[in-house]
Amino acid sequence: AAMRETRTKKTKTVCTFCGVGCSFEVWTKGRQILKIEPSEDAPVNSVSTCIKGKFGWDFVNSDQRLTTPLIRKGDEFVTATWEEALSLIGEKMSHIKNTYGGNALGFVSSSKTTNEDSYLMQKLARQVFETNNVDNCSRYCQSPATDGLLATVGYGGDSGTIKDIASAGLVIIIGANPTEGHPVLATRVKRAKKLYGQKLIVSDLRRHEMAERSDLYLHPKQGSDLVWLAAVTKYIIDQGWHDEDFIRERVNQYEDYLHMLKKYSLEYAEEVTGLSKEQMIKTAEMIHEADGTCVLWGMGVTQNIAGSHTSAAIANLLLATGNFGRPGAGAYPLRGHNNVQGSCDMGTLPQWLPGNQRLSDDAARAKFEEAYGVSISPKAGFTNIEMLQEVEKGNLKSMYLMGEDMAWVDSNSNHVHDMLGKLEFFVVQDVFFTKTAQFADVVLPASPSLEKDGTFTNTERRVQRLYQALEPMGESKPDWWIIQQIARQMGMDWNYSHPREIMDEIARLAPIFSGVSYDRLEGWNSLVWPVQKDGSDEPLLYTERFNFPDSKARFSLAEYVQPVDYEKEFDLILNNGRLLEHFHEGNMTNKSKGIQYKLPEVFVEVSPELASERGLQDGSSVRLISPYGFIKLRCIVTDRVKGNELYVPMHSVSHENAINMLTGSVGDVRTQTPAYKQTKVRMELIHVK
Ligand code: SF4
Repeated sequence: AAMRETRTKKTKTVCTFCGVGCSFEVWTKGRQILKIEPSEDAPVNSVSTCIKGKFGWDFVNSDQRLTTPLIRKGDEFVTATWEEALSLIGEKMSHIKNTYGGNALGFVSSSKTTNEDSYLMQKLARQVFETNNVDNCSRYCQSPATDGLLATVGYGGDSGTIKDIASAGLVIIIGANPTEGHPVLATRVKRAKKLYGQKLIVSDLRRHEMAERSDLYLHPKQGSDLVWLAAVTKYIIDQGWHDEDFIRERVNQYEDYLHMLKKYSLEYAEEVTGLSKEQMIKTAEMIHEADGTCVLWGMGVTQNIAGSHTSAAIANLLLATGNFGRPGAGAYPLRGHNNVQGSCDMGTLPQWLPGNQRLSDDAARAKFEEAYGVSISPKAGFTNIEMLQEVEKGNLKSMYLMGEDMAWVDSNSNHVHDMLGKLEFFVVQDVFFTKTAQFADVVLPASPSLEKDGTFTNTERRVQRLYQALEPMGESKPDWWIIQQIARQMGMDWNYSHPREIMDEIARLAPIFSGVSYDRLEGWNSLVWPVQKDGSDEPLLYTERFNFPDSKARFSLAEYVQPVDYEKEFDLILNNGRLLEHFHEGNMTNKSKGIQYKLPEVFVEVSPELASERGLQDGSSVRLISPYGFIKLRCIVTDRVKGNELYVPMHSVSHENAINMLTGSVGDVRTQTPAYKQTKVRMELIHVK
């Protein structure tokens, strides 16, 4: 062992900090991380990385890592052996299943874990506990984008690759800030603009760096993107700039769509969105003149009550203009976590089986019933959000949560805490003792990506392998290993000795993965699903057919839904989002010294107008109050935000300043994704400075 520790080892891994999916070699000596070395062979990033990928890794050696299982004894947690923890889980969960049935349990997977981990989580739910109550944390971010695309083009994923984006004539970014959220992808767009004169339109409440660089910056009223998207599409059709042949040959429901579009005149859109007619006409002209348009969007679109419908409106615009199925065109939801795409593909969703096969599809279900040896109900299970509602009603008794800090990340934290406290038996599996772990009965120590083998699927549907660079710290274990042990406690012996075997099973059961194998993914190799048996993949979707039985896409337009109605006293609109340096709730990046040094605390951005009206300066302390809770922050006065709009980063260090103390329970009308972006607050001054 001593010999090994003095040797420098290079291991290929895939970054875990965002959906771009950069890969690189990590140089280690013992547990020491020496450096990150990207390579020209890396399919997404080549020699680029960002600050998180390059410097964000020392959390793996944090002394705050969970290194043994913990069991609650009254108000305390005591360390336990794996055997004790697992047998307690087996006993309690069997009791709940036998007493109330499998539907009294809920399973939550994470978009940070591997495909193999997520696949086993849904298998545990469906086979061992015989319930479809399984979901993952994309419920909090990207489900509406998936829903809007499934309704229109048939696959819930990016339609092309990140490289394709660079070849578009026009890129439109809506409600996303790739400079901070998806840095390496942002670099590609910046470079294409500089080198090839690619045009850029940004629609966002916040005038962030990408907005500064744009040719046209749109600042619509909060939550109103659907309206200007529909109005621009209508204007394009009225001008005869649409792609008639494409629509006739490849898209259904055009007549209905035209009928729905009628009310979306420029005048109506001007009134609802606050954009000018000229801005919308300019947008239409730029789409008309461009050789290929890509639309990229993020949580500024999805975390609204009309998130799904707005995502569909984006697809409609692209369908009407023939912007699918060719390079430099298409729809690009920007997946936040490294494996948002993968965890959904793996069927940790209450109405989807692995490989994007519908639970309601009898043939697909029959295949899994045969493989699992149980009958699977065609009825969708509970989403994360519904799980908590069912706890309140007394129907859901137990949850098993993997890699997800629900107490921090879900909206309306105070309510979430009450519900988690009511669970009869709660298991949390994570790398750190999270806020959510405080509510658990058993806490299981998991290994982060550098300590395990597996695959991630990035935002462009690219499956890549990561290799184990470090031994699991202490008694921590890879998630797939832990899930398998729980299944064993319940009497089901799966017998996987390596994640490779799990991927083989996925390939057998999910046609879009049928040609995926660890051999084909060796080293820097990657595959973009759907992957045929012979190993041919499909980086560019929809060249021949959309993913519906008749091969045709569908227009889908829903009525615009007004944003959440608040009482008048809540007079400020609270927007929120990412910062470059941090990853989500900050559980990992807050443990990274370099990042903590650069950015020790979160803040609220206040417009110069509001600052002068309220007597605020840079550094003033304020209290923000919503109907759900309050937080305290310092101000930064900046013209990145306008008028009565505020911006707070979502990476808080403590509950004192955590955004979700303020967010409410209303969600997207189709997927229940919380409308985080539609939060209103009032402000009280604590100290001017
Ligand atoms: Fe990691 Fe994303 Fe940065 Fe690439 S862009 S290094 S995937 S955080």
